Amino acid sequence: MKKNKANSLYIHIPFCESICDYCDFTKLQYFRIFAKDYLIRLKEQLQNEVVDINLKTIYVGGGTPTSLEDDLFLELLKMIEPYSKSVQEYTFECNPESLSLKKIEMMKQFGVNRVSIGVESTDDEVLKMINRHHTFSDVKKVMGLLRENGINNINLDLILGLPNVSLKMLEKDIKNILSLNPNHISCYSLTVHEHTVFYINGINPPSDDFSYEAYKMVNDLLCKNGYEHYEVSNWSKPGYRSEHNLTYWRNDHYYGIGLGAAGYLDNIRYTNTKNLSNYLKGKNKKEEEIVTSSDLEEYQIMLNLRTIEGLDLTSFNKIFNKDLYQEKKKEIDSYISSKHLALKNNHLIPTFEGMMILDKIILDLIN
Ligand code: SF4
Repeated sequence: MKKNKANSLYIHIPFCESICDYCDFTKLQYFRIFAKDYLIRLKEQLQNEVVDINLKTIYVGGGTPTSLEDDLFLELLKMIEPYSKSVQEYTFECNPESLSLKKIEMMKQFGVNRVSIGVESTDDEVLKMINRHHTFSDVKKVMGLLRENGINNINLDLILGLPNVSLKMLEKDIKNILSLNPNHISCYSLTVHEHTVFYINGINPPSDDFSYEAYKMVNDLLCKNGYEHYEVSNWSKPGYRSEHNLTYWRNDHYYGIGLGAAGYLDNIRYTNTKNLSNYLKGKNKKEEEIVTSSDLEEYQIMLNLRTIEGLDLTSFNKIFNKDLYQEKKKEIDSYISSKHLALKNNHLIPTFEGMMILDKIILDLIN
């Protein structure tokens, strides 16, 4: 019997119209026959596992949810409807080339109020090179359509460190993105994963120096234009932080439904099977990690320090009966004096420089 209430639900749609050269997500080429059967299993999993219906956030990601044909897209929205009644933030991930007016109207009708668009680059040549099938003008067009239809809360995703993209080109990307005035911008540094085309082709991830310079330039430009750097890779206009993603960073509970989706309920972090044929047979053998009290402490430090909400030392002390500041006084004071951390209202908060070396800070605080 589940004890802790989960306020958030993640739903994974693993299909894509084509596969990008760098992608390591759980995804596969769209085929209607698989998508139809997938939705049947997805509905079963939703009905069997999601017992909290007063959810605060729902995030439908992928893959590419908008790769579903219109009738299947409608079926998906209908199956989520019972869970979306009290939701404050309801996000769909979309690709510009498959986000039609029809789909926007359907999303609006079912209460979707936030859209996250995979832009990745604003340079059409770079987009071709990474096997994306949209152009920057497609992005402009869908943003216009979304706004005309009353969906104004829009995130644009960008990748930092793509091959042959200089800092100058990246600066142009950011200026192009700013010209569209989204409420939220995510910039993730390229990681080259095994089994991707990038890996096979010997593409290197950006160097630490390049990543630092890139993040610094992006951060300066975005902050100058009214965005707040609230998480390592995320910026928002005031009032538009991603509540769903904050669930993860606050170390709160959430459901993960669908192929390869991760969830966290009570003291178990789980990942659904990544094997489509098993999932379609209704066999969802989850990988589970039992979170012990000491794991919980580590997660709390690791996740809370990603955002400018920071790590609340008072509540940490209450939960774990541990005065972290006293235990790690030397390390914490040293990071405060080097301006990597700040202490405000007994919250330990990373600065921009701190976010750039977060792994090191976390290691120092948990070891
Ligand atoms: S569209 Fe997204 S999920 Fe699909 S292959 Fe490209 S990066 Fe991966």
